[in-house]
Amino acid sequence: MSGVPETVFDELKRYVRWGETDEQALRTLHGFAAPQFQLLAEEFYDRILKHEGARAALAGGESQVGHLKVTMVAWLDRLLAGPWDEAYWEQRYRIGRVHVRIGLPQHYMFGAMNVHRTGLARIAYEAFHDDPDALQRVRTALGKILDLELAVMLHTYRDDLLAQQARVERLSTFGQLVGSIGHDLRNPLGVIETSLYILRTRIGEGDERAKKHLDRIGEQLGVANGIITNLLDMIRNRPLARERVALAEVLGGAAAVVKRPAGVSLDLDGLDAIPEVEGDPVQLRQVFVNLLENAVFAASPEGAVAVRARAADGSVALEVEDTGPGVDPATRRRLFEPLITTKDKGIGLGLALVKRIAARHGGTVEYSDRPGGGARFTVRLPA
Ligand code: ADP
Repeated sequence: MSGVPETVFDELKRYVRWGETDEQALRTLHGFAAPQFQLLAEEFYDRILKHEGARAALAGGESQVGHLKVTMVAWLDRLLAGPWDEAYWEQRYRIGRVHVRIGLPQHYMFGAMNVHRTGLARIAYEAFHDDPDALQRVRTALGKILDLELAVMLHTYRDDLLAQQARVERLSTFGQLVGSIGHDLRNPLGVIETSLYILRTRIGEGDERAKKHLDRIGEQLGVANGIITNLLDMIRNRPLARERVALAEVLGGAAAVVKRPAGVSLDLDGLDAIPEVEGDPVQLRQVFVNLLENAVFAASPEGAVAVRARAADGSVALEVEDTGPGVDPATRRRLFEPLITTKDKGIGLGLALVKRIAARHGGTVEYSDRPGGGARFTVRLPA
């Protein structure tokens, strides 16, 4: 054994007893198969387009197929021509990462590999049917390399799961931290509240200005306490307050607290006509504060944010749109997971809370690209 640790690819090749005979056999097949690569790629994507599930996972939709076929021809070329070295594994791994990123369900990998297996076995038979030994060698080598391809794909999914698990662990630590900070803040807030009460009795009716400021302190104490309650609620999953809520008011309140640069306009549309919903006004306000803050951030320094409401059979849909860059494709799949952020000072909790609160109200939140550029978040709540 040399001092260099064995790579996963080497280990797997050793497992399937990959050797010179296999490499030779694939190279021979390459000579016969190369003129049919284009055809194989056509068959491959035909099959995907005819399968509703696989088609839905196709990144970029049918318009991408032309480009994907070119990639597929290159993939087949390398599959049979080699070299089957570390660079091969890395290149295949990168392809696997793309599948993970677009959220392709793993089981389609097996379906897809089966299409390749059948196509290549057909070509092998055409080329070698009168030389059974050669045919056997080619079949064996094909079996090995296609299984190695599947192994790479599974490996990328596994790496992705491990990364996800690490995030969940980070989150639970984070949750505990938030919990203890929230809890510790209650004490100083309690002291402020008591002192405020004492000051109120001292000042009496005479000093209007002082009284106004004391009221303001009292109000803001309420806000601070509310935020802490919310955070603790999130962590502990306490039941929601259930009352009839006018969304126009909730949105108005949210819009009032979100700071906006002069270059970003805010347009609220159709809010008065929407039916009331049942829920927790403080938490619902949090939903729109988070969405508006993100929208204003994305649209800054110059742009527009619009909120539109529509009522449709038993539910209310609220759209928050902005003219920013939209959510980049890499972030999109994980957008509503905690701790996903692309901002220097972000924590990536905003959208996770939005999703959680919407779900606790029996609703949903979805992302779509805004026609004409930018982001659109649609919150649906039962009316
Ligand atoms: P944070 O704002 O702390 O990053 P969020 O959960 O609110 O956390 O958002 C997560 C990420 O989603 C952001 O970092 C950003 O990349 C993306 N995002 C959210 N809203 C928008 C938007 N309106 N336009 C573009 N990207 C957005």
